[in-house]
This record gives sequence, C-alpha cells and structure tokens, in this order.
Amino acid sequence: MDFELTKDQQALRARARELADNVFAERAARWDEREEYPWDNVKDLVAAGFMGMTIPKEYGGGDTSILDVILVIEEIARACGVTGRIVVEGNLGVVGALRAYGTEKQKQRYFPWVVQDGEKPAIAITEVEAGSAATDLATHADEAPGGWAITGHKRYITGAGTSRLYLVYARFGNRPGADGVGGVLVERDAPGFRLGHRELMMGLRGIPEGELHFERCHVPSEHVLVGPGDGFKKLMAAYNGQRLGAATVALGIAQGAYERALAFVTQRKQFGRPIAEFQGLRWKIADMAVRLDAARLLIHRAAARAGRGFPDALEAAKAKTAAAETAQFVTSEALQLHGAAGYGRSLPLERMMRDARMFAIGGGTLEMMRNLIADRILPTRANWRA
Ligand SMILES: Cc1cc2nc3c(=O)[nH]c(=O)nc-3n(C[C@H](O)[C@H](O)[C@H](O)COP(=O)(O)OP(=O)(O)OC[C@H]3O[C@@H](n4cnc5c(N)ncnc54)[C@H](O)[C@@H]3O)c2cc1C
Repeated sequence: MDFELTKDQQALRARARELADNVFAERAARWDEREEYPWDNVKDLVAAGFMGMTIPKEYGGGDTSILDVILVIEEIARACGVTGRIVVEGNLGVVGALRAYGTEKQKQRYFPWVVQDGEKPAIAITEVEAGSAATDLATHADEAPGGWAITGHKRYITGAGTSRLYLVYARFGNRPGADGVGGVLVERDAPGFRLGHRELMMGLRGIPEGELHFERCHVPSEHVLVGPGDGFKKLMAAYNGQRLGAATVALGIAQGAYERALAFVTQRKQFGRPIAEFQGLRWKIADMAVRLDAARLLIHRAAARAGRGFPDALEAAKAKTAAAETAQFVTSEALQLHGAAGYGRSLPLERMMRDARMFAIGGGTLEMMRNLIADRILPTRANWRA
C-alpha cells in the first residue's frame, strides 16, 4: 500500500493551494457577508482548469482521477468553503452522472458549460415530504408530446438560480417507490420552470439554497438522463461522488481552521508563555490532528479505489461521517483556542464553524449515514417504514 502522492499530484495540490491562499482566502468573507455567488472565483477556477477536471479530454476536460479532484477540493475549501463546493459540483455529482450515463448529445451540450463557463450543475432531490426519505418524492414526469411534463416542487436546492442545469429526480407516471424514480436534465429557461423562495442559511452563504417549481415544465425526451427501473440506483451510485466531495469540503474547512489555530497558539502569550505550552491546549491540537488525518485517510481510500468511477457507498458514507464530525470538532476547538478573537468577525473562525455545520445535514444527514453504514455491516437491513 502506497500512501505517497505522485509528483504530479503534489504539483496539482500545490497549484490549488497557491490559488486558494493568494486569491480565494482574501475574498471569502465577501461572499459570506454579501451572500453573493463567487462569480470572480468561478472565472479563476475555469482559468486554472479546475472545473471539469473529471470530464474526458474529447469534451475539453482534464480526464483526471477522483483523487486528483479531491486534492484540489481540500486546498480550495481550506480558504473558502463555498468555492470548494463549486469545485465539487463542477467535477462530481451531476458531472459524474453525465459522464457515466449521458448520451453523446447530452455530453456535447453540457460538458462545455462546465469546462468553459464554470457551470455548477444543481441536484434537485429534496421536497417538503421527501427529505431523508428521498424515495417519497412526489415530483412527477408525465408523457407529453415530444417529451415529458414535470410537475412538482423542490426545496433547499444548492445553486437555485445561479445554476443553468438541474438534474431533477422525478417519479415517472404513478410508479411508486424507488423503482419509479428517474433523473431529468432541466435547463433554467425551460418553459414551466420557476425559481421560488431562497432559504437564508447559517453558513456557506455564498451559494443560494432555494425552491424550484415545475408547472408542467416541458423537457424533450432526450433530456432524460436515467429512466425509472434502475434509475434511482444509478443516480445514487453517482451521488456517492458528490458525497465524497462534500466530505472533502468539510475536511478542507477543518484543515484551514487547524492551521490558523496552530499559528495562533505558538504566537499568543498568556501567563508569560506561549499558550501552546499549556498541556490542555497541546492535547486539543493533538486531537485535531488525529481526527483530520483519520478523515483524510477515509476520503483518500474511497477516492483512490474509485479511480475514475464512483466511490463505494459504504466508503463514501464513512468518509462523510468522519469528515462532517471532524469539521464541527476542529472548527469549534480552533475558535476556542483563539479566545475572543475567534468569536469575532475579523477572523474567519466563526465563518468556518458556521460553514462546517452544514455537512452534518446536507448530502445525507449523519443519522442517515449511520443507517447506511449499519445496513452494510449488519445481516439485516432496517426498515424505517414498518
Ligand atoms: C445547506 C444545504 C444544502 C442542501 N442542498 C441540497 C441540494 O442541492 N439538493 C437537494 O436535493 N437537497 C439539498 N439539501 C437538502 C438535504 O439533502 C436534506 O436537508 C437532508 O436530506 C435531510 O432532509 P430534511 O432536512 O428534510 O430532514 P428530515 O429528513 O426531516 O430529518 C429530520 C431529522 O430526522 C433524522 N432522521 C430522519 N429519518 C431518520 C431515520 N430513518 N433514522 C434516523 N434519523 C432520521 C434526520 O437525520 C434529521 O436529524 C440541502 C440541505 C442543506 C442544509
């Protein structure tokens, strides 16, 4: 087993770190305070080739491995969680689903949006009655001349309004359960598609989370990415990539907070000595380092095994659980080590702590991750509907 990154991977990581430190770090507070999408950063990501890294070369992408993307995401999220999330969705999530299941026409149309324009496609699953119980979704696609008419209402969709492309999970006809669910590619200007209320969030405020309304929204047949039957399984297989990406953003935010804490405790003096000399604080640093490494190793294992495909569901869930909890722990401890300065808004610790909180909820809650993990370990699957 080789734990070393290749020279190319080290160079890639260094390039991402440089962009994050020299450009994104300074701007991060702006997106948070103004709750504004970081279009300037998107331009820089496109110029650096960090959008569409996983897209095959014939469509203008970099054809890199999942691990390469993970290395970039962690570095970017160290400085700006919001921008880290854009790199996730510019390479994993919908991009991964399109790469695996898309038709030639779909790839020809949408991959250049990502590579050239920095499009961050959105994933639309969640509804009022379908949160953790995602297969309870009611949004439905009915046959219409030349395609499908989608009717329904989604909420908490990341990128609502800023994204041009939406992968909408919909029920085809009246088929119940997971078997009835497929995925349709809907463009922002599709007739019958309307944006709703933006939900203002605690953290990661630079990306809107909002409602989508579909009122017999017409989409041509060729916009179906996966139909019912095995469609939901395929979508969830692709979603493991998105989940691993989210885990990496959480890790990156935690790493950023940890590095700040390290610098602070060695420089700040109380009782005539650097606070890094107090044993209780040294243990905090040690605990942070252990958790960061554990989360990183789980993420790297899942990514390395995925190659250029999708991570395994169990490995992605373990990585997300570890990284989401690490992010909460490390950002909170890093803030604590800074005293009042950490609680203040001149430093990014309070933002990091708010941003980190999301990963226990979005992309599958910690409880649902544990359900998935236990289902894989134990001989019987739990049935929550009983
Ligand atoms: C910032 C943010 C961004 C998001 N972006 C997107 C997006 O882009 N696209 C999208 O489709 N959705 C998105 N979501 C929605 C997200 O996926 C859901 O919030 C999540 O799946 C949980 O659903 P819920 O909020 O309805 O909570 P609920 O499902 O109502 O859960 C409430 C509580 O009950 C627990 N719970 C529920 N069922 C069980 C069970 N069987 N066992 C144990 N505990 C259980 C949950 O863990 C949670 O603690 C986003 C959410 C956030 C916060």
